[in-house]
Amino acid sequence: MDLFAYTYVGPEEIRRASASHPAGTPIASRQDAEAWLQAHPDARSEGATYVVDLQGRLRLAPRRSEHVACAGGEEVLAAGEIHFQGTGLRLTVAEVSNQSTGYCPDTPCWDAVVLALQAAGLTPPPRFAPEIVFRRCTRCGEVNLVKEAWFVCVFCDADLPAEWNISPRRTLHLGGRE
Ligand SMILES: [Zn+2]
Repeated sequence: MDLFAYTYVGPEEIRRASASHPAGTPIASRQDAEAWLQAHPDARSEGATYVVDLQGRLRLAPRRSEHVACAGGEEVLAAGEIHFQGTGLRLTVAEVSNQSTGYCPDTPCWDAVVLALQAAGLTPPPRFAPEIVFRRCTRCGEVNLVKEAWFVCVFCDADLPAEWNISPRRTLHLGGRE
């Protein structure tokens, strides 16, 4: 399976401000997830910020945390928002999105989310919700969140490319991974 490593593409001042924050908490098990939710009770109702780091691990931070802070300034395999439901053995992942304007990850980063959740003993939901399609306008350079397959720049009306084009991204080959 090929995964992509996404580079932070957000404002430099946010990256600098995030450097003083701790990285998100790695979640390797359901117990880790439960402990994190007990320490962050607001996350049960409002969700949390997550990234999948370069080691394929889920990392959680309180909602409204910057993804680049959650990632410790590193590249990510996926990023977005996550919502949990239930407690203890009934703890489930209700929703996961790829909504991160810091990394603008392409929709196939879903594969990295599935691997990270499974590695933590959590069952992934069927798909991203919402699933965000990011494209950079080749005329004006602005990043668009494409809605309902309408590939037109909201800033300058130019057509948007069919392929993800936010930044250069590295391909990671994860052959033999469990
Ligand atoms: Zn444009």
